[in-house]
Amino acid sequence: MKFVSTRNASEQVTASEAILQGLAPDGGLYVPEFFPSLGLINIHEISSYPELAFEILTPFFEDDILKNDLAEICIDAFNFPVPLVKLHDKQMVLELFHGPTAAFKDFGARFLASAMEKLLEKQPRKLTILVATSGDTGGAVASAFAGRKGIEVKVLFPKGRVSKRQQQQLTCWGGNIKAYEVDGTFDDCQKMVKDAFMDTKLSKEWGLSSANSINLGRLLPQSVYYVYASYLYQGAYDTKPTFIIPSGNVGNSCGAYWAFSMGAPIERITLAVNANKTIPDYLKEGEYKPRQSIATLANAMDVGAPSNMERLFNLYDDIETFRKMVSATSVSDDAIRETIREVYEETGYVICPHTATAERVRRDLPLQDDTIVVSTAHPAKFEAVVEPLIGSSVPVPEGLASLLAKKSEYTSVGCDYRELFAD
Ligand SMILES: *Cc1c(COP(=O)(O)O)cnc(C)c1O
Repeated sequence: MKFVSTRNASEQVTASEAILQGLAPDGGLYVPEFFPSLGLINIHEISSYPELAFEILTPFFEDDILKNDLAEICIDAFNFPVPLVKLHDKQMVLELFHGPTAAFKDFGARFLASAMEKLLEKQPRKLTILVATSGDTGGAVASAFAGRKGIEVKVLFPKGRVSKRQQQQLTCWGGNIKAYEVDGTFDDCQKMVKDAFMDTKLSKEWGLSSANSINLGRLLPQSVYYVYASYLYQGAYDTKPTFIIPSGNVGNSCGAYWAFSMGAPIERITLAVNANKTIPDYLKEGEYKPRQSIATLANAMDVGAPSNMERLFNLYDDIETFRKMVSATSVSDDAIRETIREVYEETGYVICPHTATAERVRRDLPLQDDTIVVSTAHPAKFEAVVEPLIGSSVPVPEGLASLLAKKSEYTSVGCDYRELFAD
């Protein structure tokens, strides 16, 4: 299996090459040249999630240098449960927040980190991962790379603009993970990362690489849980489910479309977005207009120019097909609050503000059965929003609690990228 750029299908690379490069040289995103069919997998003979991941991902690594490591990578990466829970009969929630940083980004970050560590064993070189974060991504990447041999990570976060718990998840690792508090905004952090990559001498010397949500190594594992949950659902109810997915950069939902393209039993895929309406507007108007993001309660989805849209356009390249395959609904902050409260009062189940966008979309459907809402984070990560709404405290899961108890350490810097390489 080869991977090609969304902008040029003639230059082909292997999965490992795509993972190490991040972005294609022409600025496009890597996509598989075709989607293998799941038909050959006997889902009922598979006993564990890592084993299923291995079966699904094998065709993508067929002629790759990591081929013989894939099983081990899956066991290492997916070392936490993936429950599909019942909210009402035939109305399920896929809980993707049981990884170490309590958000779905652990799936992609852990797979990427494990794959990169294996690659370095085979092809030793200096590797430094640079990430700018406005919240969740940095924590998942820091956690996934902590203690990995031969890889250093530099995480940049904007001073005073991440929540206390988020900051703790960025700064508690020590060792090969270095956290930098930038005296500026998230955009400043991103600019520093870009500037560092543009400095070709420094970039070479430090072996700079990125771990952001466009990396193929994060995308591929995000298709596995859609295959898993759709087969589980079909096995239980003998129908295909519709997934409703809280979306920002559209990496998570792109995984769902890739699962669909492989033949997973999925009826429909619906994107729930917050007040950042770029995708619903595109569906309505037929013209794609990326824009500045606006701040909402579901802040990990505050994206005005979703970077993985290029992959969806690659799948469905005219507006008619796109409209047939993709639906997207915007949910306001008021509706997020109301939904968190409603679900808690009716069922006692607590959801985070991101998950609430998807649950709102489900509640507004004419028929709510045969749906799976994708839950992207544990509500305890957003306690400042959730607790006042439900009038009680949200217990912190054990893994998260142990991170919160660790010592925090970071370096304060200005906005010049050279300060990151001073040591
Ligand atoms: C990142 C994130 C999202 C959005 O996922 P995308 O892949 O960017 O669409 C949704 N919810 C939570 C909690 C997140 O951390």
